[in-house]
Amino acid sequence: MKNIKRIFIPLFIVLSIFAVNLSCSNDDEIVLTPTKITEDTSGDTETTTGEVEGSEGEITLYKVDGENITKVQDYKVSGKNLEYQKDVVKHKEIWELVKKIVPLDQRKKMGEFLIYSGETSGSAGFVIEMERDLSVWKMGIAIDYAYVDGFNAGGELAYTIIHEFGHILTLNNTQLDATVTIENCKNYFPGEGCSFEKSYINELHSKYWNDIWSEYQNAKKDESTQEKFYNKYKERYVTQYASTNPGEDIAEVFATFTTLKEKPEGKTIAEKKILLMYNREELVNFRNHIRKNLALRGKGSTAAFELPQPGKWKQANTFGNLSKTKCRH
Ligand SMILES: [Zn+2]
Repeated sequence: MKNIKRIFIPLFIVLSIFAVNLSCSNDDEIVLTPTKITEDTSGDTETTTGEVEGSEGEITLYKVDGENITKVQDYKVSGKNLEYQKDVVKHKEIWELVKKIVPLDQRKKMGEFLIYSGETSGSAGFVIEMERDLSVWKMGIAIDYAYVDGFNAGGELAYTIIHEFGHILTLNNTQLDATVTIENCKNYFPGEGCSFEKSYINELHSKYWNDIWSEYQNAKKDESTQEKFYNKYKERYVTQYASTNPGEDIAEVFATFTTLKEKPEGKTIAEKKILLMYNREELVNFRNHIRKNLALRGKGSTAAFELPQPGKWKQANTFGNLSKTKCRH
């Protein structure tokens, strides 16, 4: 058994590096974790521990099965991260919040769930496709950030999960065709595939990015020009982070649409972007589902969770990676 593992581990690492290169054009991002699913016919969750050392703060990887998560592997960690690894109650607590936010039919698009340390990468969460056809996704949540000042303090974690769910919602195979290359794509091409004409991201891009696209292409070369671009077009974006690229924009619009109590009037382009989501019945249903589950409305006056005010989210006033549509936020 040991020998088999030794043969397999390097292979998995090679595969994971290959997968990262497919989806992320730079190498300074979260490395897709090696996936080593152990035989588990009895429902026993015992797995190998600590044999693989993640390069991006990986702590524990789970397989997602709709409602439940099953441990695939613990990574080799030490110190604080080892304490986080042992604290499976926290892993489950985070997962329960994911379940409240991501409805079951959408959760079926999630194949894996990673608990990692945000300190290494500086990110609070990420999603990455597990299948090239974009049908299955992995979500990662930084456990150290999830517990700053207590679990989900200020609603930061809930906001992060909503934002990440926004990526899955807008980049999956019902929205993009991964078999169409950029050269053959008539619509917006976020990197993972060609967006369908009626997809959420293509609508957003054609209405509110297309007219400033060449300026944006020029602006995204470095952070100072990106900042000038943002300052010029501030009224188009729900947060500064949203101006990173259309992929981050739509995730931020979805998070703002969900967390903002009132329907905006549509006075600014940023508000008009939110209204695009009000036009989509299924998105309104997701919004209602999340708000109800987080007790943002309905029974009693005490909200179970508080969410950051739009624009007050910790990473709201930063820029993300300019060349990516997701991977990290
Ligand atoms: Zn993001």
